[in-house]
Amino acid sequence: MSTSSVTQDEYGAPGLMGLSNYGLSCCVNSLLQSFSATQEFTELLNRWQMSDTDIPEDCNTPLQLQRLLRKMQSDKSHTAHHEDFLRCLDRNHIQLYVQHDVDEVFLSILNLIQQQISDKELAQEIKQLYKITVEQNLQCQTCFYLTKDTSYFLSLPLPISDCSNTVENCIHCFFELQDITGNFCLCERCGERKPTKQGFKLVSLPNVLCLHLKRSGYSLRSGYTKKLNCEVKFPEVLDFQTILRRDQISESTQEEERKYDLFAVIVHCGTALFGHYTAYIKSSSDQSWNHADDSYVRKVSWKDVESTFGGSRRCAYMLMYQRRQDKMPQSSN
Ligand SMILES: [Zn+2]
Repeated sequence: MSTSSVTQDEYGAPGLMGLSNYGLSCCVNSLLQSFSATQEFTELLNRWQMSDTDIPEDCNTPLQLQRLLRKMQSDKSHTAHHEDFLRCLDRNHIQLYVQHDVDEVFLSILNLIQQQISDKELAQEIKQLYKITVEQNLQCQTCFYLTKDTSYFLSLPLPISDCSNTVENCIHCFFELQDITGNFCLCERCGERKPTKQGFKLVSLPNVLCLHLKRSGYSLRSGYTKKLNCEVKFPEVLDFQTILRRDQISESTQEEERKYDLFAVIVHCGTALFGHYTAYIKSSSDQSWNHADDSYVRKVSWKDVESTFGGSRRCAYMLMYQRRQDKMPQSSN
């Protein structure tokens, strides 16, 4: 890290480099800002060394991402040009000139890293960084037979409803046993498809916790996708321990730190069909919030971040939290 002070100008704020918008890349740009702010992720990716057996450079996602994140962290004074990375995604079916869903692109990038990194052990470590392990329970509503299965998420898909006005509430509802709408599951005991309830128990939490607020809904009336603008408040410090009941935590769960600090918020403005993504990123050096809107980066306050709770057309879609480290006391602000 350079000791010289970086002055804030039109394009850069300390700790964050702007990214030019190229072929409707605001969604990818916002994700890149959050990847760049995820220290453990960049450290792991930096450990990887490409070998002769790897796929060609121009469609090698982990390689292009590694190069770009290094660039974003080396010189923060100007806008980064990142056509190589965007073209690489395009070759891997994340197309340019298309409006994407941020959670889909996030999962696709992680998936491409898994597929294309030759060091499988390292690929697993990257996956582990985001892996939320749960026990999935399916209960037949005719005979009440319960099936248990272990599964995982790399981002927690949280349904939004008018009554779920906090993210803690959304998480609580996600784990609760509830009807699977319109879907009957095969019950082993009944021997046929029956109405089923699904619920989850928490097994383990990752170091980087990604929450996906599912604001895209389907309107039965119009037949189009609509955007759910209702307000969902989220905290700067999330304590998972206080959200779940004891019976929503698996018996196999180990003791672990469940307090998290928010460090990235990906926001969508506009309608479900046409809109723009930006990112709010917390600087790890001075704990200040920055807003990255493509090449335009500026310092903002927590109040500005709060303005993305919803209720307007500007809403948070994705929240990224970092687990607190026992040995690293965080400043309490
Ligand atoms: Zn049954």
